[in-house]
Amino acid sequence: MEFQAIAQSLVEAGSFLAGQGWAPATSGNYSARLADGTVAITTSGRDKGRLTPADIMVVDTVGEPLTPGQRASAETLLHTSLYRTYPELGAVLHTHSIDGVSLSRWLLGRGQDTLVLTNYELLKAFPGITTHDRDVAIPIVANSQDMVALSETVLARLRPLATPVGYLIAGHGLYSWGATVPQARMATEALEVLVSCALQALLLDRTP
Ligand SMILES: [Zn+2]
Repeated sequence: MEFQAIAQSLVEAGSFLAGQGWAPATSGNYSARLADGTVAITTSGRDKGRLTPADIMVVDTVGEPLTPGQRASAETLLHTSLYRTYPELGAVLHTHSIDGVSLSRWLLGRGQDTLVLTNYELLKAFPGITTHDRDVAIPIVANSQDMVALSETVLARLRPLATPVGYLIAGHGLYSWGATVPQARMATEALEVLVSCALQALLLDRTP
């Protein structure tokens, strides 16, 4: 029962995120922690706007498949490493939006490895933030196909942050999370919109 409900919530998150254009060409992956500590996660290569519960598999805490015959996403380790580090996390969502991919790539290419979001009302969408007047740091890390190294880099960047809400992989996409799938979905939507606002601000600044 628990798995079915979680799987259904991940299906609905996928429908929403893909509907926003944030999961092109089957990209992205979505997960949620189950009560026994294992993790329900989308299988590799599925259209994220047309998921069914059959497209959700179970992996252990180090990302090894527990569902026979299913292939886990290459990025599964980026999910399970977050669950191992942050006990309060219940869901992790990963998107590949045009703005997130473009802005992260542009910033890191110019040596800027953090996107600081400040003075946005939508910051209040994140747990524990009650005012627009806050700096929220979003680390930007270089892309890699080495998931062990990438997950270690990500955790090293997140650990110093008091309220980590997400991170960007340059030229790749966004990871965000929450205590539940709906909360992770809200955080992801807020971050994607704020990333777009940051990109718009940069473009406006460069307009003569
Ligand atoms: Zn990805």
